[in-house]
Amino acid sequence: MNYYPGRAVVDLDAIRDNVTVLRERAPTAQVMAVVKGDAYGHGLVPAARAALRGGATWLGAAQVPEALALRAAGITAPVLTWLYGPGAPLAQVLEAGIDISAPAPWALAEIADAARSTGRTARVHLKVDTGLARGGSFLEDWTAMLTRAVQLQADGVVSVVGVWSHLARADEVDHPSVLEQFDVFAEAVRRAEAAGAALEVRHLANSAATIAVPKVHYDLVRPGIAVYGLSPMPLTHPSPQVGLVPAMRLEADLHVVKDAGPGQGVSYGHTYTTSYPTTLATVPLGYADGIPRRASNVAPVQVAGRQVRIAGRVCMDQFVLDVRDLSVAAGDTAVLFGSGSDGEPTAQDWADAVGGISYEIVTQIGPRVPRVYR
Ligand code: PLP
Repeated sequence: MNYYPGRAVVDLDAIRDNVTVLRERAPTAQVMAVVKGDAYGHGLVPAARAALRGGATWLGAAQVPEALALRAAGITAPVLTWLYGPGAPLAQVLEAGIDISAPAPWALAEIADAARSTGRTARVHLKVDTGLARGGSFLEDWTAMLTRAVQLQADGVVSVVGVWSHLARADEVDHPSVLEQFDVFAEAVRRAEAAGAALEVRHLANSAATIAVPKVHYDLVRPGIAVYGLSPMPLTHPSPQVGLVPAMRLEADLHVVKDAGPGQGVSYGHTYTTSYPTTLATVPLGYADGIPRRASNVAPVQVAGRQVRIAGRVCMDQFVLDVRDLSVAAGDTAVLFGSGSDGEPTAQDWADAVGGISYEIVTQIGPRVPRVYR
């Protein structure tokens, strides 16, 4: 069965080309395309392959199952996984030849156990918390972490190949915290090298820093959202200005198109009422598909070449448009968001309309919506 009322059409060439643009922004660094969250909703494996075609040499997968799925698909590029808890199947990760982040002392101990049980040397990226206050060791605890890691390295159990960290405010242009984090990172790297770590990669930059802060590029940059053509800094660095093309187009075929008189309350709660004789059209996507309910009455949708706002509340499986004088029929395509090149809204427009970020818009498109690749 391949009938679906709505679909996310993913332009893999756009993903490829976005990575090429990011490589040009960071010419001295390798690119790790971050493909967590099902490649920000675009589909893990196809998006990963497209990013590799664009010149990414690494893939970043937050969760262990995501990293393993890349290997199961036959992808052999270097992969880093970083989000797991005690008891995670790290032996499987090592068997799959995947690099592992060590965000805390317990993780280093579990990585060492997995290495001993598999007879493999674990390739470890030690995470330093330079100011995000999330994963990683603060600088106060860094020396203890390093001492332990270097001991395990001497035992042949681990190889400390990376030191890495994550930025808190790189999307705020010229925010002083970025260079403060950079200074802490530089110190952490210095101590790691002095302790005997032969680092292959030092990495700190997300999309925002890849685009706008060359000083923090180091050996490897880790863009996520920009790979998919969306800018983390839509006001100062909008996608077209950076040369990024949004890769996902969310569309659906109109179901019911019918005339309605003035004064007609629309959808649950009647939060929208027609004010003239008009035409209503239903779009078969709803919050069960990841359309935010807070898009009710505010988000734009393109039909018949024009943008109209959602009329009334988004329901579980559908929402309504007041298409007024537009000439539309059941089966016509409504575009919720796309690249913007044909006058359709973008995921950023949706984020602005609902008061969120483009990351949420694309990652929340649910599994009921098929990804169609072109
Ligand atoms: N690196 C890490 C550790 C992340 O968690 C993320 C995502 O939040 C990224 C890189 C990519 O961030 P962005 O999508 O802002 O480029």
